[in-house]
Amino acid sequence: MKSLINALRALQEVDRQRLDAEKERRSITERVDQLAAMLADLEREQSDKRDKLREAERWYKEREKELKEDNEKIKRAQTRLNALSKAKEYAAVQREIEGLRRGNSQKEEEILKLLAVMEEFKRAVEEEDAKLNAMRAELAAEQATTGVRVKELDERIGRLSNEYASYEKGIPPEVLSRYRRIQKAWQGMAVVLVDARGSCGGCHRSVPPQLYNTLLRQETLLACPYCNRFVYVETAVEEPVHG
Ligand SMILES: [Zn+2]
Repeated sequence: MKSLINALRALQEVDRQRLDAEKERRSITERVDQLAAMLADLEREQSDKRDKLREAERWYKEREKELKEDNEKIKRAQTRLNALSKAKEYAAVQREIEGLRRGNSQKEEEILKLLAVMEEFKRAVEEEDAKLNAMRAELAAEQATTGVRVKELDERIGRLSNEYASYEKGIPPEVLSRYRRIQKAWQGMAVVLVDARGSCGGCHRSVPPQLYNTLLRQETLLACPYCNRFVYVETAVEEPVHG
């Protein structure tokens, strides 16, 4: 019975190491995935900003074209004006020119305002680009180190699984399935120490004195009556635990 409890303890130790390795693997890969998702979000936002900037540039070019066309109109009207001699016609063309000039100065103002806003926006987009580049580099570095660690952990998990399989062989199937059930139920320890005061290492309740005495004889595989975990006691001469 003592060798069976030792085999269970060894199995549990291997299991614990495997669960730790799996937990670490999950946490580091999740971190990289989160970072990648964050970067993808920011890249989408950046691409939207670029679209807006292009739209503003198009608008700017249209207004500039209009301004040029209006200046041409003014020039042509000026030429016509010089050829006119009748006062009435002269005044009409002059009004036309004044109207065009007013419209143009308004357009110029609008264009300048737009240009200022565009410049500011462009600077913000460029700053964001620099930040994104830094993030991309950070992500690549993180992916590289995580990749190395994941490989190590996978090797470790593989080794531990083999070790686990070798310990499994020494344990009767019904004990093994009970071990798995308890482990699953408690999400962890299935084999625990009962200390010298008779307290269960799993649920910390005092096991009945009779159970404790039976445990000391190490003749049968026993479980805590409260939490169902397999229990054992430390005795003066300990058999070495594998692993
Ligand atoms: Zn217990």
